[in-house]
Amino acid sequence: MERIKKGDTVEVIAGRDFANARRQGRKVRGVVHRVIRAYKIDRHHRRLGRDPDKDRVVVQGVNLITKHQRRTGDVRTQYGRIEMEAPIHISNVMLVCPSCKEATRVGFRVFEDGSKVRYCKRCNEAID
Ligand SMILES: [Zn+2]
Repeated sequence: MERIKKGDTVEVIAGRDFANARRQGRKVRGVVHRVIRAYKIDRHHRRLGRDPDKDRVVVQGVNLITKHQRRTGDVRTQYGRIEMEAPIHISNVMLVCPSCKEATRVGFRVFEDGSKVRYCKRCNEAID
């Protein structure tokens, strides 16, 4: 089970957006659009299993880049300069607890039937 999931609200705690916001006394928070799971790859490009230390997340409005998209044959494809979010490393975000609204570390509670639930290490409230 993962500490951060799609749809979670997270706070950015490192990097360019964080540094800019801190200078202005702001916090950077956003919704996780995508979690990019990393895999260990051998020299033959075979997947050797998960590599959680390299997981990345795409957070709404964070780490914006301008992509210069060529016109393609497909009329539905946007072209020109497109602003989009680039992934950031998962260790650079912290989950925002839905109960206490603070950026928090995440713990897991395991039940006897083997199911797990995430909980907030600040207020101890279950997250989902
Ligand atoms: Zn909490």
